[in-house]
Parts: sequence; structure tokens; C-alpha cells
Amino acid sequence: MGPSSRADLARYTGVSRGTVGGIVQPLLDKRILVEGEVVPPNQAGGKPATKLWFSKDAKPICAVLLMHDHVRTCLVSLDGAVYAQSTEKFPKDLNDPHEAFQIISRSVQKTATSVDMPILGIGVAVAGMINTEAGSIMSMSLAPFFNNFPIETELAKEFEVPVCVDKDDRALLVGDRWFGKGRGRGNFAVVYTGEVLGAALYIDGHLHRGPSGAGGEIGHTIVQLNGSRCKCGRSGCWETIATLRWLRDEALARGLPQPASLDTRRLIILADQGVEGAAELLQEYAFNLSVGLANLQQLMAPNYIILHGDVAQGGERMLQLIEARFRELILSRPGDDVSLVLGDSEDVAALRGAAGLVLSELLNFPL
Ligand SMILES: [Zn+2]
Repeated sequence: MGPSSRADLARYTGVSRGTVGGIVQPLLDKRILVEGEVVPPNQAGGKPATKLWFSKDAKPICAVLLMHDHVRTCLVSLDGAVYAQSTEKFPKDLNDPHEAFQIISRSVQKTATSVDMPILGIGVAVAGMINTEAGSIMSMSLAPFFNNFPIETELAKEFEVPVCVDKDDRALLVGDRWFGKGRGRGNFAVVYTGEVLGAALYIDGHLHRGPSGAGGEIGHTIVQLNGSRCKCGRSGCWETIATLRWLRDEALARGLPQPASLDTRRLIILADQGVEGAAELLQEYAFNLSVGLANLQQLMAPNYIILHGDVAQGGERMLQLIEARFRELILSRPGDDVSLVLGDSEDVAALRGAAGLVLSELLNFPL
């Protein structure tokens, strides 16, 4: 939902206007929400309605994106603007979680104090497995020192504000839910592509996490019996045929230029230049991606899938290639409207989502 009147909110949430008023008033008092544009009464009569939305002057949320080798922090205003961004790289020989936490904490401190007001809370998106009940990192590939680190408790102790932690793919979904193309939808999915594949689902008005946040490991669903070995130790996972690692290995084997840094955007350029093998590799990559997307659609029917990451860098051209194959692979049901769309390709989508986790918590808005 975007800016909405009290009546809209009552309709959407299924509670009375009086209840909505009771929830909204304290948020107006705290300047988290403001009243905006007045909508004239409709032809059927009724009172003019005032639309409510987040105040530009409200305290910001500090968003953190934690990767295996660096941490990004920024502030996010309640209307989704991202500012005061900062990135800290971890030293190559880092293997102590407390040392890593000091770097994260310093980065949060620097970002949080870059404005002259306190922050509302800290939202953390982690590129790893998360225990959402405990707010801890279960495991992060390439950064095993973080295993079982209670990041939520540690940040809450240090900064004394509400802290919310989730997996990066789910943060992307929350960002799209609050600030992007998922706004106002009861069902949608987000799929991240690139070095890894991840997904998050919003089904029947709720974010699906699974017990302790175990859901969303779509990259490790098996799409090839007797397929190649995956880094998870199994064989034939979707990740083995639809990530940048596959693309780069194939580019090397097929003699394409600079295979080690190949991505969708450059592959499209090579295909357009008529470089031998590029157009075929592009088609194959698009097909391999469409297989997992079709499996997701068949199983959960999100009907609206927002693509992030490397694929989004390929723009409409890549989307069309994937979509053509995707439509061949899904069962069509008369009257169904199934769409694949591109999300924001930058990391700001995940940062906004990390902030959205806190926002949902503060507004008591169940995700
Ligand atoms: Zn795997």
C-alpha cells in the first residue's frame, strides 16, 4: 500500500475505522506518520478522506547489509530514501567474530551519528542462514567464524534500540513489500540471482519464513539428476546451472573473452556484437534460470515474481529471454495473470528491506 486514508486501512486490514484511528493517532503524535493530500468525497457521498503516509521528518532507521567480506550501512527514511551510506571491508585474515562485530558496530555508529537525531532501530540483512527466532547467524559460507553469532542481541546491547535480523533474500522481499513493486500485493515472490540463488515468498498476505527461517533455499532444489557437484555438497542443485559461476565456467570452456568477470550485462553486449558462442550461452543461461522460476511458480503460485541481482542488470532484454522459456514451462490456467518483473538491481533494495523489517516491527504490522 502507498499513502492511504483511514478508511482504506480499515478495509485492507479488516478492522473498524475506530480501531485504525486508535493505532494511527500515537504514530501521528510521534511524527512517524503525517497527514497528506485530502481526497474529495466520492459521488456516492461520504466525508473527505485524508491520506496518511510516513513523515519525512521522522527518525530514520539504520540498515545493515552483512556480506562475508564486508558490511554496508546506511540510513533509510520512512519514505524509503537511502542516505549516509558507508562500506567497511573485513581484513582478509579475519577469523574472530568479536573483531568482525567491532567493525560492524563502528560502521553502524558512524552512520547513525551522521545525522542530528537518534535512530528508530537497526535492521540487518545477512547473506547467510539465519535463525530468525534467536536473531543469530547460523552459517555464512566463506565466513565460518560468524557461525552461531547472536548478532541481534549484540547490536541491541550496544545501541539500545530495536534490532531485526533476517536473511538477505527476505529483506529484499520486505523492501519490495514496503517500498517497491510488491506494494499492495497479497502474493508475490522475490528471486535473487548472481553468485548464489535465493528466494523469498509472500503468500496470502504473509511473509513465509518457515521454522526459524529455514525456508527459501531454492538454489539447492535439485534440477538435474546426476548433475554437477554443488558447493553445498549435493549434486544437481539449481545453483550449479544458473549462477554466475556456471556462466563463467561455461564462458571459459567456450572460449569467450574475459570469462572470469562475465555477467548478464556483458554477455548481452557480446551477443549483440556477434561474438561466437555468446548468443547461444545467453539463451542457455536464460533457460537454466527459467527452470527454477517455473518450479517456484508451479509449487507456490506467487503469480508475480520480482527478479533482483545479476539478471536485473541484464534489463528488459534478459527478462524477455527468461520469460519466453518460463511460459513454456508453466501450466497455464485460464484467467491467470502470471508476471515476471525486474526489481531494483542495486543493493539498496536489500538495505531498504532491512529497514522495512524494523518498520514492520514498530508498526506492529505482521509480515
Ligand atoms: Zn546445493
